[in-house]
Amino acid sequence: MNRRITITEVKSSLDLALAGKDMYALVKELYPICRSITGNGFRASLKEIANHIPIQTREVPTGTQVFDWTVPREWNIKDAYVKNSRGERVIDFKKLNLHVLNYSVPVQAAMTLSELRPHLFTIPEHPDRVPYRTSYYKEAWGFCLSHNQLQSLVDDRYEVSIDSSLEKGHLTYGEIVIHGRSDEEVLFSCHNCHPSLCNDNLSGVAIATFLAKLLSSLGLRYTYRFIFIPGTIGAITWLALNEPVVPRIKHGFVVAGGGDSGPFHYKRSRRGEAEVDRAAEVVLKHAGDSYKILPFSPYGYDERQYCSPGINLPVGVLSRTPHGQFPEYHTSADDLTFVKPENMARTLYQYLAILEVLEGNGVYLNQNQKCEPQLGKRGLYRSVGGVTSQPVNESALLWVLNLSDGTHSLLDIAEQGEMPFEIVLQAARRLEEANLLQPIESNA
Ligand code: ZN
Repeated sequence: MNRRITITEVKSSLDLALAGKDMYALVKELYPICRSITGNGFRASLKEIANHIPIQTREVPTGTQVFDWTVPREWNIKDAYVKNSRGERVIDFKKLNLHVLNYSVPVQAAMTLSELRPHLFTIPEHPDRVPYRTSYYKEAWGFCLSHNQLQSLVDDRYEVSIDSSLEKGHLTYGEIVIHGRSDEEVLFSCHNCHPSLCNDNLSGVAIATFLAKLLSSLGLRYTYRFIFIPGTIGAITWLALNEPVVPRIKHGFVVAGGGDSGPFHYKRSRRGEAEVDRAAEVVLKHAGDSYKILPFSPYGYDERQYCSPGINLPVGVLSRTPHGQFPEYHTSADDLTFVKPENMARTLYQYLAILEVLEGNGVYLNQNQKCEPQLGKRGLYRSVGGVTSQPVNESALLWVLNLSDGTHSLLDIAEQGEMPFEIVLQAARRLEEANLLQPIESNA
């Protein structure tokens, strides 16, 4: 016999300590790789992810038109440095890949400090941090360094070398589809284009990878699609090449910033009251962690594309501290000490809890609508029965019976009764077993 909601069991039996440890280990593996929106660093990262889940790698040629954008030339880099006249590397890409302006064109030159200066980027207000800077769509070269490091540079003849290439190639992304009983889909999108930065977004990559791994072993209602893409251009490319899939996406998430110690934030989709928005809110309301629900705004991660007016998918963002709002954001301080295994594990858990709502939600019909059915004789009242091995929340039973008139979903009931969804779901299961409830909208 098919069991309906196995995600509930996975959620309750999840070893959070082990999941956190495994996700952190993946972040650690990926951290040193120099990723960008295209190139071999992105491919190497997908290969690492493929050690955990069987993702497909897709290659989209340079020059492909994707809505108003064009897939750019592919960028690769072997080495980059600034050497002083004694031959010492005073800025060294091999020590930290953030040191090179991402997408720098190749350079081999000798110059004075004042000539070099316009190509150097620092954060004066955080003098010990190296910024993360990019120049994808304007040809440029440069180095990023700590302000302290900049101030230690003396007048000298510097040798500047960036051994990079910017050539016709491909935009690469990774994709895995986990089939459920329905071809309606839940989309998980995460950007995988940042070099050595952990919270934004290796935490998201690790959470998505382990979520996909967990879902792969379940009997699911929805089909789940995970995409590992470069930010902005990757989401635009995926949407442009997958327009026939878009109408099948019923719920979606942008996964990012899941490893810092800040409170949870759920940013609503552009639709505002989509099922995914309501599911996230009902979960966070009862989870016991501090959280905030944010309205949609056309700024942030790839929800900008999924929630553009002509796409308008119900895609929200579940993160801890939101995009751009932690001081470590886009700096070398977003490192392996900034993300914590237990934070990623808790974020993973919240995702599972939201999926439990999406998988379990449905509309039922009370089979005994004239006055309350007698629950005691069916063993559904603890005070009478004594036969129930698992206690059922009596208030949830009454809520489910009362509102299951064919117009309210279990999510409506959880909201109106101000109860955790899992308690409502459990009550519905028990009432169904007792033949007091029948599904009228398929959630099989
Ligand atoms: Zn970022």
